[in-house]
Amino acid sequence: MAEFETYLQGVKTAAIAGHVNPDGDCIGSCMGMYQYLKDNYPEIRATVYLEPYREVFSFLPGIDQAKAVCDPAEPVDLLILLDISSKERIGVAGGLLETAAKTLCFDHHVTNPGGFTWFFNEPRNSSACEVVYGHLDPEKISETCAAALYMGIVHDTGVFQYSSTSPETMRVAASLMEKGIPSSKIIDETFYQKTYGQNRIMGKVLLESRRVLDDRVIIGCAAEEDLKRFRVEAKDMDGIVSELRNTIGVEVAVFLYEKQVGEFKVSLRSREHVDVSRVAQKFGGGGHIRAAGCNLQGTAEEVTSRIVEELTVLFA
Ligand code: AMP
Ligand code: MN
Ligand code: MN
Repeated sequence: MAEFETYLQGVKTAAIAGHVNPDGDCIGSCMGMYQYLKDNYPEIRATVYLEPYREVFSFLPGIDQAKAVCDPAEPVDLLILLDISSKERIGVAGGLLETAAKTLCFDHHVTNPGGFTWFFNEPRNSSACEVVYGHLDPEKISETCAAALYMGIVHDTGVFQYSSTSPETMRVAASLMEKGIPSSKIIDETFYQKTYGQNRIMGKVLLESRRVLDDRVIIGCAAEEDLKRFRVEAKDMDGIVSELRNTIGVEVAVFLYEKQVGEFKVSLRSREHVDVSRVAQKFGGGGHIRAAGCNLQGTAEEVTSRIVEELTVLFA
């Protein structure tokens, strides 16, 4: 029996969940897993939970069945957690941690402290989707499942660009492509295309960005009023920090946006040298060496100077 099947022994009900403010990898791994269970284990009653996501992901078959609310009083035999980074970031389905009989977590966050019945964390893997793929039977992966997993890999690697992309990532992507998925369409329509509002707020953030620490750090900020003006939400902020990071000469890019007045979500990216997960962890967040995040309270100036202070130590 394949290893993954052993976790499904005796399971009648399963819940699948990712992290708050879901990105492409979170959605891809959750929907890929959901589809895999539906395709191969129809006797298991599976439910997938997703927090609000961008419209571009709605092409994935079955995503309309995802639930945005959860009743933890209805316990499940198995809770499958994907790409979460920590238990605190599960979101709507977080309550199931208390009631689920068993928990199984697939992740690639170096900062995930674990605490699950079964835990497979591969920080060297590009994405949760790549980790999940490693546990599934390739013969049992349908085109629909493959499209979801491929999408997650595309998003977390910045279309196979970031240093987390390994030869194995390419082999996994190739085998998913062989299932007949619309790969170009997935890349274009879910990764590159932006709404008008997203492009406008990105333009404003880039225009007003500033550089510190001998121009090695670039900082961009979107205030609550900017989000209102361009009619965008938290889920629309994806991609801004990587655009900042594209600036020649920059080692670290910092992007903060105001979730609500006085509360900022901070995204950090680095190129080659700085471990930004250390900065994020200092403020209760986490992530990877080259991509991490945290939440901070205060004015934009206060939050920026706290981050810059930490970065100054790392640059010293
Ligand atoms: P983001 O800047 O939101 O795209 O996040 C970059 C990476 O850091 C992702 O892998 C996230 O899962 C992780 N991350 C972001 N925010 C947090 C947080 N508050 N706690 C732990 N991990 C986070
Ligand atoms: Mn993610
Ligand atoms: Mn991920």
